[in-house]
Amino acid sequence: MGSVIRVEVDGVDVDVSEGVTLLSAVQSAGVELPALCSDERLRPAGSCRTCLVRSDARLVAACVTPATPGSRVLTATDDLRELRREAVEVIVSALPPRALAASNPSELAHVCRSLGIGPDAAGGTDGRGSDDSHPYVTLDRDLCIACGRCVRVCADVQGTFALTLIGRGADTVVAPGTGGPWADSDCVSCGGCVDSCPTGAIAAPGPGRGLTSGVPSDGAVRTTCGYCGVGCSLDVVVRDGDVAAVLPARDGPVNRGHACVKGRFAHGYRLSPDRLTQPLMRRGNLLEPVEWDTAVRHIADRFSAAVHAAGPNAVAAISSARATNEENYLFQKFMRTVIGTNNIDNCSRLCHAPSAAGLVASFGLSGGTDSFDDVERADCLLVVGANPVEAHPVVGARLLQSALRGAKLIVADPRAVGLALHADVHLRPRPGTNVALCHGLAHVLLAEGLVDERFLRDRAGGLPEFGALVADYPPERVASITGVPTADLISAARLYGRALRPAIVYGLGVTEHLHGTDGVRSLANLAILRGAVGTDRGFGINPLRGQNNVQGASDMGALPDLLPGYGKIADPAARARAEAVWGLPVPARPGLRIPEMFAAGRSGTLRALWIMGEDVCATDPDTENVVQALQACPFVVVSELFPSETARHADVVLPAASWLEKDGTFVNLDRRFQRVRTAVQPPGQARSDFEAVHAVAAAMDADLGCTAPADALAEWARLAPLFAGISHARLDREGAVPWPCPHPDGPGTAKLYRERFATPDGLAHLASVPYLPPGEEPDADYPLVLVTGRSWAHYNSGSMTRRGGNLGLDAVDHLDIHPDDAGRHGVHDGEPVTVESRHGRARLLARVGRSVSPGQVFCTFHFPASGVNRLTSDRIDTVTSCPEYKVTAVRLTM
Ligand code: SF4
Repeated sequence: MGSVIRVEVDGVDVDVSEGVTLLSAVQSAGVELPALCSDERLRPAGSCRTCLVRSDARLVAACVTPATPGSRVLTATDDLRELRREAVEVIVSALPPRALAASNPSELAHVCRSLGIGPDAAGGTDGRGSDDSHPYVTLDRDLCIACGRCVRVCADVQGTFALTLIGRGADTVVAPGTGGPWADSDCVSCGGCVDSCPTGAIAAPGPGRGLTSGVPSDGAVRTTCGYCGVGCSLDVVVRDGDVAAVLPARDGPVNRGHACVKGRFAHGYRLSPDRLTQPLMRRGNLLEPVEWDTAVRHIADRFSAAVHAAGPNAVAAISSARATNEENYLFQKFMRTVIGTNNIDNCSRLCHAPSAAGLVASFGLSGGTDSFDDVERADCLLVVGANPVEAHPVVGARLLQSALRGAKLIVADPRAVGLALHADVHLRPRPGTNVALCHGLAHVLLAEGLVDERFLRDRAGGLPEFGALVADYPPERVASITGVPTADLISAARLYGRALRPAIVYGLGVTEHLHGTDGVRSLANLAILRGAVGTDRGFGINPLRGQNNVQGASDMGALPDLLPGYGKIADPAARARAEAVWGLPVPARPGLRIPEMFAAGRSGTLRALWIMGEDVCATDPDTENVVQALQACPFVVVSELFPSETARHADVVLPAASWLEKDGTFVNLDRRFQRVRTAVQPPGQARSDFEAVHAVAAAMDADLGCTAPADALAEWARLAPLFAGISHARLDREGAVPWPCPHPDGPGTAKLYRERFATPDGLAHLASVPYLPPGEEPDADYPLVLVTGRSWAHYNSGSMTRRGGNLGLDAVDHLDIHPDDAGRHGVHDGEPVTVESRHGRARLLARVGRSVSPGQVFCTFHFPASGVNRLTSDRIDTVTSCPEYKVTAVRLTM
């Protein structure tokens, strides 16, 4: 939008941004106008003619007419009202009367009521039938007015192109583009069509029927999605104490009225019959229900006994990137000040620890460098090791729309992930060869002078060493390591190198490797070479955080070597700062990382372990080893929603509140703090982890202070200068604030490093790290490489998405296999196949197709029963101990 212009609406002056439509100007003036083919998320269509106004004496459709300075708009004359009324009457004349029933909450019914059009104007009848095949979307064809909003949302917002209009004239109706029932279509259940449909023809079934984000709902609670790291703002509509609908907030800073199947629909888990609603305590082989007081007393006694017998370092805790910031903060404070150990880690260890380490080493801070709003403005997107269309659907949709609008798109991923279908260049490196691939790209950038000399001279260090290193990575050599053809490598380097404002986005395909931190740093090298970080000449490098609060869990100090706000445990000054706030000593010895905790369990040195909200027996690699660790550890506490694989090995299980049932904050993938609010009460005796940690501390005669989540965040802000300006009160006022934010009155920082990098010398650092092979490579015994990842319908171990309608969308873990390999191994599509690695075996259903390259197979790990993580190895990133999930040598047997 450009500058502000003044428009007169019914005699009242309104100031609007240059370029907006008359419809926006009229709405800015507070005048309600029907606009049945219009949705603010879409380009105007101007087809229904229900928004007629008079502008400078001309009769125009307001939705397609630009507002110009000094325009004089009339909306309220009798003739205009009559024209609009007639336009709407024509539309409703073919609908059955129920479309306008007094109880109908649809936009069309509301418009008719405002124009005085009653149900008798609806002269149609039912007869075209419905499609109820889908768990989350129903189609009532008799209510369709063929406005096309759903079709355009599906194409222009979501990018799935699943819908079309079929038929002619009055018989035109929306339908899945594939023909057949909706459930068999390409629909990914984002709910965009439901929210855009003005008549209720497309609706969500159940108690939320008729509720859409376009129509305000009473009793809605604004919160932040608890699934992935995108951080969509959601309005939870509560009826009779339960969730009636979860609607994407139109003013959500990241999602802008969009969501995905998980945030929008996957809340059925809340009332699943096997939801934990009471603490459980082991008696013999059984976990039996007990009261909270009993469970808490037992935990406190056993923790005290473990400390007494073997010292505080015999106790450890795994915090959660699913939990709120405040819960993570309190948990690490409990471990450090009550137990007296730094044995606290969180599950970012298993996903983005290499991002934190790599970005800190290259630039100084552990977050992505730019906001996603800026990334969306890039003219070239380099997306590496990520499948955002499935794993971060709202960001995936925004990236796809950028590409469809003309941004160049380079996808580097072994698989034909969703974005790759729209890529200008798709690089398919062999799993585990990212570092060589990045060095090859850097080689071309340097060889062809596609670098920012001035930036390299003034703001970066390490060029001589780096130049010497990548001289050894000519495209031909890189092609032999990665399998990427030299021409593709050179094309990609030229696209990225010649772009005016390139951006890099990456995911776990970069981090979950033996050399994951090197992978992050090699990718950062490209942004540094281009001067595309900390400047207006690009939008840096941005990790797609997998879980909702990966960033926040680490920001809060749930790490064995870092305090809240990233002060180093080894730094006496950082410890002294924490000690001053807590009034208690902070242990100086760094604690155990998660893999080290399990090793300590197996070796007998770990005496007690508290796992908060992680199903480590399903999601951690080489799960047989994890199970052995839990079995060997004398006392295990698990805080969970369900009787998970891990909970089965616990001595005490605490029933936890889910993200819809508690208060706090999350930090999303572009470093935005956002509020999480209690929409509904947890079932039975389930409690937030915040309450559970407080209770155990109190039973150990300790007072952690900060009785409410807001107090915990305030205390954390006192500890961490970069975050001192963040508070619940501010977030309640402003919605979202990105860190760093050192002052309560100053803005947050969406773009990092404008002045200087946060490294000790203020420079960005090129990393001269050689390519080293992955931990496992295929051989005669294990000839295939297994890559694991997520599908669009599920989330991690699937504990929430398997309980509810998503199960009907995707009911098993599949093994994707190329037709050549399928033929060679005698594998048939849809048949079960056993996958064996050196570590274990899993049973999966084969899905034969070309999404994977020959020699590679792919599967998800959403169904613990399939045992996928029994296959993955215990190899870990050499810097951060992040597991090498993305490369496992396997073989197939029937
Ligand atoms: Fe939730 Fe991520 Fe889906 Fe948004 S994209 S609704 S944050 S799971």
